Formats: sequence, structure tokens, C-alpha cells
Amino acid sequence: MARILFRNTRVWDGSGAPAYPADVLIEGERIRAVATQLGQLEAAGAEIVEANGMTLMPGLIEGHAHISYIDSAVSTELGDLPPEEHTLATAKNARLLLDRGFTGAYSAASSKLRLDIVIRNAIDAGDIPGPRMRACGPEITVTGGLGDERRAHQFRDSFAIIADGPIEVMKLARLCIREGADSIKLNISGDDYTRLGAPPRTVMTEAEIRAGVEVAHDFGRLVNAHCRSAESVKRAVRCGVDVIYHCEHADEEALDLLESVKDRVFVGPAIGLLHVAVHEAREGAIHPAIKQGLTVGLEAAGRAYREMNKRGIRVVVGGDYGFARTPQGQNARDIEHFVNHLGYSPGEALICATRFGADLMGMGGECGQIREGFLADLLLVDGDPVADVRLLQRAENLVAILKGGESHKLDRAALEHRRVQAAE
Ligand SMILES: [Zn+2]
Repeated sequence: MARILFRNTRVWDGSGAPAYPADVLIEGERIRAVATQLGQLEAAGAEIVEANGMTLMPGLIEGHAHISYIDSAVSTELGDLPPEEHTLATAKNARLLLDRGFTGAYSAASSKLRLDIVIRNAIDAGDIPGPRMRACGPEITVTGGLGDERRAHQFRDSFAIIADGPIEVMKLARLCIREGADSIKLNISGDDYTRLGAPPRTVMTEAEIRAGVEVAHDFGRLVNAHCRSAESVKRAVRCGVDVIYHCEHADEEALDLLESVKDRVFVGPAIGLLHVAVHEAREGAIHPAIKQGLTVGLEAAGRAYREMNKRGIRVVVGGDYGFARTPQGQNARDIEHFVNHLGYSPGEALICATRFGADLMGMGGECGQIREGFLADLLLVDGDPVADVRLLQRAENLVAILKGGESHKLDRAALEHRRVQAAE
């Protein structure tokens, strides 16, 4: 069995405790020992990594992944791309995510029926590199809802599949599940930030939501939902949705509902797109009324998520990377957004990006923390990510990336550079 010994690391273990010095032994796919007495672990046959005080932390987990999104400006580009090219692009994105330190990815929707599924299976089989994955089907939306790009005279595909009425929702949910999805996605609200300051509309009925939830839960699968408006959050909770995304316009009643189910529900803000549109888009690139709506949305997220953090609701990091303004691979920016926009401390944001992500993937008992017996999904980081979460945005700071004890990356030159620095 392969053994790797990380000597003299600072372990940030994801429990909430401050980082501490330790040696960490990996055996096979798991963490065998975490020793706070340095130099005590028996290292026979082990590959030695002298960390010289670098930070060892759990691998990041993207809680709202769209690995089949291709950095496009408009959603019909996803529909236009043929399945063969699309599969290759998805495989490339999966690898990029792992290159950027994400050892887990919970999908919030695939842009064609089987893209997530086939890539998840190929990763699990060891055929291609990528994070551990939970696959989702395409976004199930109603006529006129988010992702329905058709016109009366013209069929246009995007990232969504369209269902009207409970029977059609059931049918599409069963289709996704039959093809191998771990979860389904329901677009309960729109994205229509077009009216000054008004939150997007709620367009999927409770009967439709319940139908999807009933099917998914019968098959033992989860339900994810796109919910920007307060009403959509309330419908999602009342109908038993498991993962509720965005939620920035959640009002007091919606927050109370979320809190009442905090032991079973996960929430994810996915505000990367809002941040970029409000703070980084070229002047004039976004219609002023839409920009006004997005600004209101970002401010609302700041209020809602401060409250959710206070109430102990589990919130996951990531989301909506794979658009032109939020290209794949920039996912770790989300951790900084939690700190800057949502009032999280760096340590809290990092827990959202590791431990809560593992909980969402159903792997909380063996992943997302550095603990003896847990899977060795680990990052060795040059620097202290609690002091500056932006360190995680630069690939060169990720000196080692391990998934299940296998090193996807081990930068010997960076280790040597650190050794020389430490010796001086
Ligand atoms: Zn999304």
C-alpha cells in the first residue's frame, strides 16, 4: 500500500479548530495518522514530503458545479454545441477543477442529459482526472422559465429541459434518474433581474415541485432548486427540496422556514455572477436596469446570508462558474466572496468550502476534514489560507493536490524552494 508522510505541516483540519503543527501519514486512500508530536511517525517505505510549515487542509468542494458549462455568454451556445464536443469540453473542465484544488464537486445541473453522468463514471473508473462528483440532470424548467429559450416559430436548445404540469415534471425526473443522475434540478424562480430592484418571479407551481421531489425521493435521489425570490424559497422548503440555491431575496418567513429544516437542507448563494456583473463588468456592458437589479440582489444576499450564518444553516461555497464572466477554474473566488459580501470569517468560509461540501455530497463521515481514517483528499498550500483566502485562487500556491491518497499534483520545485527559504 502506498504511503506518503507529510512532515512539519500546519494542519487546518476543517473542524473549526485553529491550525496546528503536525506530521500526517497517508496510507492507501486514507489518512492513517495525524501526529502533533513532530518527528514521531514511523516512515518506513513512505514517500516523504517535507512541508516546512506549509498548510495542509482538506480539498475544496464546489457545491454548485456546472462542469458542462463552456464559459459562454448566452445559454443557447450550450444547446448549439454537439454532444461529442460537449463531452470533451466537460472532461477538460473536470480536470481543471481538480487542478485548482477542488477534490469534490456537487453538480447543480448538467447542460445535456448525460454529460455529468458520463464524466462522473469516467472519473470513478480512473479513466480521466477530476474531482469526486455528484451528477445532476439538466435544469427542469417550465415554459417561459429560466432556460426556456424557444420561440413560437423556432426551437432553440439551451441548458434546460421543459416540463409543464406535475406529470411532465415526473417524467423528466424519472428520465434523469434512469440515466444515472444523483440529483435533479428544478428552476422554481426565474433570473429576470429586469425590473428596477424587483426580485425575479416565482414560476414553478407547488404541484410541479412536489411531483419532482416525490419521484426523486422515491428513487433515493436529491432535489436541487434555483430559487432567487422569497416565495420560491418558501415553496422549496414546503415541498421538501434538499438543496436550495441563491435565496438572496429570502425574507423573514423564508429564513424561518430554512432554519426549521437546517438539519436536512443545504443552501448555496452562488453569487460569483452577481459580484462580477456589479463590480467588474465593463461600463455599459449590462443594461442599467438589469445592473440595478443585480446590485439589489447582491446587497440582499449580504443580508440574507449573514442571517443564515447566525442561524446555523449549512451553506456551501461555489456556483455558476462556467459563464463568460465567471470562467471555469475561478471557483475559489467564491470563498473570498463569502468573506467580502456575506460576512463570513475566513475560517467559516473555508468550512463551507470543505466540511459542508462533504456533508452535501453525503460523505461527511469520511471526507471534508483532516481526521484519522478519513479519505486523503488534501491540499498542501504555500501560505496560510485563513490569513488570506485569496491564496487559494492561484494554482502555484497549491503545492500538492491529493485525491483519495493519489497525488494529482506534487510540486517538488516549490517544496525545495521552501526548504531553502526555511534553512536561511
Ligand atoms: Zn447554477
